[in-house]
Amino acid sequence: MIFLLFCKIFSRKSSLLLTMRYVDLHTHRKGDNKYNAQGTRYSVVNCAPTDELDGLRYCSVGIHPWDVAVGWHEDFERLKERVLLPQVVAIGECGLDKLRGGEWLLQMECFQAQIDLARMVGKPLILHCVKAVDEVMRMCVGVKCVFHGFRGKPELAKQLLGREFDLSFGERFNVESLALAWQAGRMWLETDESELGIEEIYERAARALRISPTDIVVPGTVSW
Ligand SMILES: [Zn+2]
Repeated sequence: MIFLLFCKIFSRKSSLLLTMRYVDLHTHRKGDNKYNAQGTRYSVVNCAPTDELDGLRYCSVGIHPWDVAVGWHEDFERLKERVLLPQVVAIGECGLDKLRGGEWLLQMECFQAQIDLARMVGKPLILHCVKAVDEVMRMCVGVKCVFHGFRGKPELAKQLLGREFDLSFGERFNVESLALAWQAGRMWLETDESELGIEEIYERAARALRISPTDIVVPGTVSW
């Protein structure tokens, strides 16, 4: 059910099934927000609650754990105002980071608020998680989540896939983990802050999986 909802969120525009479609689940490059010249690139641009969203085709909006400070409630109010906009397909990136970012208790409070909001509006979360997998697994119940920038080992991939998390892979990844997510039908690809284009990331993933890039279909595109 949640999976269908996720597909629905990503299904605002249908296009020719025969066209190769590159879906970039997470990018910080605002210029990537529209179709490319061939009409084949769909990018979910990462935004903070105060960013300008006009003109973005797809975006995610959230409070990054690095940006969590005492006044996070103000950002959260802004996020609540914007979360129902049609171009906002997910909440994030948000999550927990034990190595960097705001004070731990504030990170937890702010993340919990975003999880509750995601549940309420039925939109998925794009997760940033550093050294906090146990906490994230415990907190993210009853909400669709994608771990972004996943570089973890297969043991962790298996654990997360078993809990119905999707995994998104960028420039560098563990090949076995990628294969596990692909086999589970829960593999996304992303550029994040890479210099590479999403087309190159698709090529790398396809080479690792020994398939053609044209065979790659990420979960959210099934109903596009
Ligand atoms: Zn990012």
